[in-house]
Amino acid sequence: MPLYEYHCPSCTHKFQKLQVMSATGADCPNCEQPARRMLSVFAAHSKGESGAGQPSPLPPMGGGGGCCGGGCCGPSH
Ligand SMILES: [Zn+2]
Repeated sequence: MPLYEYHCPSCTHKFQKLQVMSATGADCPNCEQPARRMLSVFAAHSKGESGAGQPSPLPPMGGGGGCCGGGCCGPSH
């Protein structure tokens, strides 16, 4: 089941809801008004730039956690 993001136009409350794809909508848990489904990830609601997605900065790798650094491939045993 996809997770849909909703925005309530009445109270501007945002919430997420797991729904089947055939679901038509959801009510705002705050004011119980019908909320609008926001097309979040799949939508190409481009604002100005065409085809340019949002660059998601990855956290810098390194700092333990992997094999090298844990001790399995270290010089000391
Ligand atoms: Zn609301």
